[in-house]
Amino acid sequence: MSDVRFLPIAAGRLAAMRSAGQDEFGNPWAPFPAQGWEPLRCCLRGSAAGERIALITYSPWVRRSPWMEAGPVFVHAGACAGYGTTGVYPAAFLGSRRWLNPFDHTGARAYDHITFLAADEDHDAAVRALLARPEVAFVHVRSAAAGCLMFEARPDGSP
Ligand SMILES: [Zn+2]
Repeated sequence: MSDVRFLPIAAGRLAAMRSAGQDEFGNPWAPFPAQGWEPLRCCLRGSAAGERIALITYSPWVRRSPWMEAGPVFVHAGACAGYGTTGVYPAAFLGSRRWLNPFDHTGARAYDHITFLAADEDHDAAVRALLARPEVAFVHVRSAAAGCLMFEARPDGSP
């Protein structure tokens, strides 16, 4: 039983983008074959060479906020199985430098708790330690090299 959820892009939002033929920012849905290194934010695993994927602009915020950030992420071009084990840190995304970007309960960035992790640190423990702080509401786990959002982590039961 986990008290933290590691969240992919919601399947419903992706389905709406596919059916609209564009992402939520108006970029066309343009499938292409994966090279095999791309991290997929729909199912939180690496791509396999030749899979049909798309590069979209995505923002994890669902309500308007001055803190909102949007950026490029790879996703499967078609519907996929998603990420079923949301209580488990995505193993495919371990082993790279990460930037943990935490937010407080007002939605503002919790600057004091911004954390950079080396590839060989315990990323799961670091995310859980941040979320155990009462002032931290949720964490965006990003690539420390490129800044791209990998996934969001929230306490179980939070909105
Ligand atoms: Zn996928």
